[in-house]
Order: sequence, then structure tokens, then C-alpha cells
Amino acid sequence: MWLNTSYAKSGYAYLIPMGQERASLILTVPYTTHEELNQHWKSFIDTEKLNPEVVELWDIEFESGLSYPHQVGSTFLVGASGGFVGSLLCSGLFPSLISGFEAARAISVGTDYSKTMEPYFTNMKRQFNLRQLWDGLDNHNLDRVVSLLNIKPVKYGLLNCNLDILKRADSLIGYFKRREKTKNLS
Ligand SMILES: Cc1cc2nc3c(=O)[nH]c(=O)nc-3n(C[C@H](O)[C@H](O)[C@H](O)COP(=O)(O)OP(=O)(O)OC[C@H]3O[C@@H](n4cnc5c(N)ncnc54)[C@H](O)[C@@H]3O)c2cc1C
Repeated sequence: MWLNTSYAKSGYAYLIPMGQERASLILTVPYTTHEELNQHWKSFIDTEKLNPEVVELWDIEFESGLSYPHQVGSTFLVGASGGFVGSLLCSGLFPSLISGFEAARAISVGTDYSKTMEPYFTNMKRQFNLRQLWDGLDNHNLDRVVSLLNIKPVKYGLLNCNLDILKRADSLIGYFKRREKTKNLS
């Protein structure tokens, strides 16, 4: 995985091996236009000195964000349309599936969809907060984040403890966001 604002802005690039000789190389650039994509790709390939033999290329335009309310009369907003895709890493398969199940349950047995999805919505709001903070990080800050994540106890805690990290970090994220805002105003 690569983090570098010069070609990925506040996004990232990653490589997924598909076997001994093939892999998927993904570059995710937020706040960009289709026209700018080629330039980002070229810069990524040049900077990281990658020389892939390209067998297939594709682009996906993807929008994520918060959505509210999640139910309007008999219309239920589920999955990506309900804002159940995280703003930071675009992970949303699990909450999206859950939203489908919960919408079905609300329709069939009358449960309160907004209420059952509330914990997932809270998690999405936390991810959104983190995304807003992340957007302001430069390469130096990103290096610091990666170094922090590589400290053994932090890494161990993240990988082995069943902690809700976003919940714990939310007030810290709020503090840093307020600090950035004050800095920008002065
Ligand atoms: C590049 C990328 C990588 C991702 N990686 C991950 C990951 O690693 N882990 C993870 O958890 N999530 C990941 N996600 C997010 C994940 O894909 C979404 O959270 C999930 O697909 C949302 O499911 P959905 O059913 O709401 O929407 P979708 O999967 O987008 O399904 C919507 C479907 O509706 C169809 N459709 C749209 N309009 C119409 C219409 N008018 N009529 C009929 N059909 C229509 C579309 O063709 C599509 O098939 C990734 C997303 C992207 C773009």
C-alpha cells in the first residue's frame, strides 16, 4: 500500500496479488475528475518506479458520504445509497449487507430501521470525521501515522484486540479537527 499526496491526494494506492505473475494495482484518488486520472496514474507509476505489463484497465467513479434520513415513508435507503460505505477506506460490504437485512426485517416484522441501523450510522459519522482530518495530512504527517501504526504495542492492539478503535479515538479526532480549524482561521 502506498500513501503519497502528490499522486493520490488524501487517497491511497495498493497492490493485490492474484497469483504468481498477476496482480491488481489500484489507485484511489478522492476529489478528482476523470480528466485528471491519467496524470495521477503516470505520476504514481513514475514515482514508485513500477513498470507493470498492463493486461486490463478500468476506472470506477465512486461517491460515498453520509445520508439521512434512512427511511422516507415506505422507501428504505440501504447500502451505498444509505451512506453505509465508510468515507476513509471505502469499506462498506458488511454494513451494506446488514442494512439490506434490517430493511427486510422492518418491512416484514415492523422493526424500526433507523434504530437498528443507528450503531452503523454512528460508525459512518466517525469515519467521516476521520476522513475530514485525514484530508488535511501532508506526506510528512502520513509518514508519522505509518510510523505510529508500526509501533509494536499499537500494531498488536489494532490487530489482536477487539476494540472499537474509532469509538475510542473519536474525541481525539474531534480535538485535532478543532485545532486545524483554529489554525486555518488565524
Ligand atoms: C474500488 C472499490 C473497492 C472497494 N473495496 C471494498 C473492500 O475491500 N471492503 C468493503 O467492505 N467494501 C469495499 N468497497 C465498497 C463496496 O463495494 C460497497 O460497500 C458495496 O458494494 C455497497 O453495496 P450496494 O449493494 O449498496 O451497492 P453496489 O454494490 O454498488 O450495488 C448496486 C447495484 O445496483 C445496480 N444499479 C444501479 N442503478 C440501477 C438502476 N437504475 N437499475 C437497476 N440496477 C441499478 C448497479 O449496477 C449495482 O450492481 C469498495 C468499493 C470500491 C468502489
